[in-house]
Amino acid sequence: MSEHIVIVGGGIVGCMTAMALVDQGKKITIIERNQIASQTSGESSWAGGGIVFPLLPWMYSDAVNNLTGYGAKSYRQICGRLESETDLPTGFINSGFLLLPPYDQTSAIEWCNNHQQKYEFMDEVDSQISLSKMAQASIWFPEVCQVRPPYFMKALRQWLVNNEVTLMENTELTPLNEIKPLNVWKTLDGREIKADKFVVTSGAWSFQLLKSVAEKLKIKPMRGQILLYKPAQNLKHIVYRDGFYMIPRDDGHLLVGSTLEDVGFDASVTESVKTELMAKAEAIMPALKGLPIIKHWSGLRPGTPENLPTIAAHPYVQNLYLNTGHFRYGLTMAPASARLISELISGQAPFIDVQPFGFAID
Ligand SMILES: Cc1cc2nc3c(=O)[nH]c(=O)nc-3n(C[C@H](O)[C@H](O)[C@H](O)COP(=O)(O)OP(=O)(O)OC[C@H]3O[C@@H](n4cnc5c(N)ncnc54)[C@H](O)[C@@H]3O)c2cc1C
Repeated sequence: MSEHIVIVGGGIVGCMTAMALVDQGKKITIIERNQIASQTSGESSWAGGGIVFPLLPWMYSDAVNNLTGYGAKSYRQICGRLESETDLPTGFINSGFLLLPPYDQTSAIEWCNNHQQKYEFMDEVDSQISLSKMAQASIWFPEVCQVRPPYFMKALRQWLVNNEVTLMENTELTPLNEIKPLNVWKTLDGREIKADKFVVTSGAWSFQLLKSVAEKLKIKPMRGQILLYKPAQNLKHIVYRDGFYMIPRDDGHLLVGSTLEDVGFDASVTESVKTELMAKAEAIMPALKGLPIIKHWSGLRPGTPENLPTIAAHPYVQNLYLNTGHFRYGLTMAPASARLISELISGQAPFIDVQPFGFAID
C-alpha cells in the first residue's frame, strides 16, 4: 500500500508539495482551515503578485537562488501541464522584467553572467513610463515570467481533485505540543487525522502551530498590500523601481505594490498605504492619475531571516516534515521546495544541497 501523507496548509507550497508527492505515487490528504484558492484571513498564495523572479536576485544567497532559479525555469512547463489537464487558465505570461534605476549595476551584471540570465541595457523604455534623466540605463530581463496567483491556485486545486488528492477544507489542526512520534493529529473540532507522515506547509501560521516542538523556528507574518488599476493603455512588461513593482495582466489590469509591514496577523488594508502606493505608481506612470482603484488587498507572507525557508524533517518528532517560511518568493520557490521535500520524504538523494534549509535547533 502506498504511504499516506497529510499536508497541513493548502497554499501554493502545500499544493505544489501534494503535486510532487502524487507524481511519486503517494496517497495525499491536504488539511486547510479555509478554502484552497481563496482568501479569507490573509493567506499569502492568493494575494501574491505572481512574478516568477526574486526581484533583485544578487541580494540573496546561493541557497535562495538555487530554489528561485529552479522555479523560474519550471513554471512554463507546470502551467502548460495544469492548463492542458484541467482546462483552466493559470495566467502564465512571459512578460519580461524592466528594472529602472537606481540599482547596483556591477552586482546585477555579475549575477546575470554567473546565472546565464539574458539581459539588455535600455535607454528608451515604454512611452507610458516617466523616466527622469539618470546616469544609469534601465536593464531588461526578457525571460522573466508571471502567473496570476488566484487562477494558478484554482487550476492547481482542480488538478489535485482530478488526481485523487483528498481535500479537507474548513478543517483546522490544533498546535502540536508533544515531542513524540506523530501518527495522529487532532483537528480543532476533536477529530483525529491519521497518517504515515505529516508535512507542515502552513505559511505565516507555521510557528503558531509548532512553537512547542520547534521553538527556534523563526517565521512571522509580514503583510504586503497591493492595488489594482485598469488603465486605458497598459504597460507591456513588469516594471520595478526601488522596492516597488507594477505588473500588467493580459486582460488590461495592472497590479501595483507592495509593502513589507511587520504588523502581526492583521490582514487589513490601510488608507495611508493606498496613498503611498498610488503616489509611487503615478510617479512611474503618470496616466494613472485620477483613475479609480478597482481593488486593494493584503496578504501575510511567511517572513524568515535571509528569506530562507525550512525544508527538512523534524529532528525529534518522527514523521513530521516542514516545508515553510518562503517569505517573499514562495511562488517562485515552490517547485524546487516541493521537489526537495518529496525527495526527503521518499528517502531519495536531494537534487540540491539541503543543508541551508535545515531545522533550527540552537
Ligand atoms: C503582496 C504579496 C506579493 C507577493 N508577490 C510574490 C511574487 O510576485 N512572487 C513570489 O514568488 N512570491 C510572492 N509573494 C510571496 C508568496 O505569495 C508566499 O511566499 C507564498 O504564498 C507562501 O505560500 P504558503 O503556501 O507557504 O503560505 P499560504 O499561502 O499563506 O498558505 C498557508 C495555508 O495554511 C493554512 N493554515 C494555517 N494554519 C493552519 C492550520 N492550523 N490548519 C490547517 N490549515 C492551516 C492557511 O489557511 C493557508 O491557506 C507575495 C506575497 C504577498 C503577500
